[in-house]
Amino acid sequence: MKISKAEADRKGFHQFIHHDTLVWASRADRGQHRNRCLCYSCKAFHPGEENNCPHAEELFDLLTSSNAIHTAPVAECEDFEIELEEGDLV
Ligand code: SF4
Repeated sequence: MKISKAEADRKGFHQFIHHDTLVWASRADRGQHRNRCLCYSCKAFHPGEENNCPHAEELFDLLTSSNAIHTAPVAECEDFEIELEEGDLV
């Protein structure tokens, strides 16, 4: 069953164009991928480079092979290693 845009909006969802495709998203999550994905704070994350994390590569391959799912922020990972910035250690 399809939901009307008005009803979706009332429930906090909306549609927008992402990479030339009309997608659905939660309004609360729109633009929050980097803030919510562990990878962007992880030492192992090197997108587009040969030394990128194999788990991140696997997820990227899955997403690029999917016709429907465009983003999947990593919320839990047993191999996460926090990327320290200058000033984090005292
Ligand atoms: S180890 Fe986990 S958190 Fe770190 S880049 Fe890989 S998938 Fe992301």
